[in-house]
Amino acid sequence: MILDGKKIAKSNNDIIKNKIDNKILCNKSVPGLGVIIVGDREDSKLYVNMKKKTCKYVGIKTKTISLDENVTTENVIGAVNIFNSDKTIHGILIQLPLPKHINENQVLTSVDIDKDVDGFHATNMGNLALDSREPLFTPCTPLGCMRLIEHYQIELEGKNAVVIGKSNIVGLPISLMLMKKNATVTVCHIHTKNLKEICKSADILISACGQKEMIKKDWIKEGVVIIDIGINYKDDPENPEKRKIVGDVDFDDCKNISSFITPVPGGVGPMTVSMLMENTYKAYYRLTI
Ligand code: NDP
Repeated sequence: MILDGKKIAKSNNDIIKNKIDNKILCNKSVPGLGVIIVGDREDSKLYVNMKKKTCKYVGIKTKTISLDENVTTENVIGAVNIFNSDKTIHGILIQLPLPKHINENQVLTSVDIDKDVDGFHATNMGNLALDSREPLFTPCTPLGCMRLIEHYQIELEGKNAVVIGKSNIVGLPISLMLMKKNATVTVCHIHTKNLKEICKSADILISACGQKEMIKKDWIKEGVVIIDIGINYKDDPENPEKRKIVGDVDFDDCKNISSFITPVPGGVGPMTVSMLMENTYKAYYRLTI
């Protein structure tokens, strides 16, 4: 069965749009998202445009600060501070990755925690990790994956969950969230030995490693639930002008062996954007009631 992120994200966006329409009627204020983009990466520009388009649909106003590739960490923090003190901005999105010379941790920690709609501030991440604590905001991609799992009523307790990737923005937070749901979590990365064998033990396989169609049918067991977060590009023989977007999982190879699988595109991507809308609405609500 296909986990239809596009459909679930659409209905979630409609719910948020409704809430925003109603709230605007009551107090006339509008939710605002401040977007910071550094450099000229085509993929980053594409993701930012997708997010802004959905903001427009649900009724969130955006302001964007675009910075040159060569700016300093202080310059980026300066941009964050502009949004921190802007009362019309309730959430701040810093499009990652930042250029290598920028101190990402310093930048992310400079975001006002009340506006940390990406959930990457160290305090939010710490609260995500600690038992019996809840972050103000949870990172959007892991949150979107968990929503998909909940929507399709997939059981996590006692299941073997294998996560490929341990980045701060995806692999690590989703591992923590799965653990909090009482799954038995194995986190894999570039130094993991016997990755294929570990994947075969998974009841739930979550891949966020950015390796084009790496996971084949002989890597998985019958009935596995697959959440494919990876976004990779491959040449499309039918359309040489355009590249095709594929995940970390070879979808055609694995779809009949898995019980549930996310497509790429149309799975986790739209859920990530929808969770950003939800977090921004939450920030707006908290700051304006
Ligand atoms: P990073 O590059 O920060 O992290 C990749 C992780 O995968 C690292 O932990 C790395 O290990 C691990 N890894 C890389 N290659 C292998 C391999 N061959 N075997 C095992 N582990 C490996 O990427 P992100 O976490 O930012 O993103 C991961 C993927 O998810 C990308 O394709 C990205 O485009 C996509 N993405 C999709 C989103 C969506 O909305 N769908 C949102 C965000 C990201 P190590 O730590 O040891 O280097």
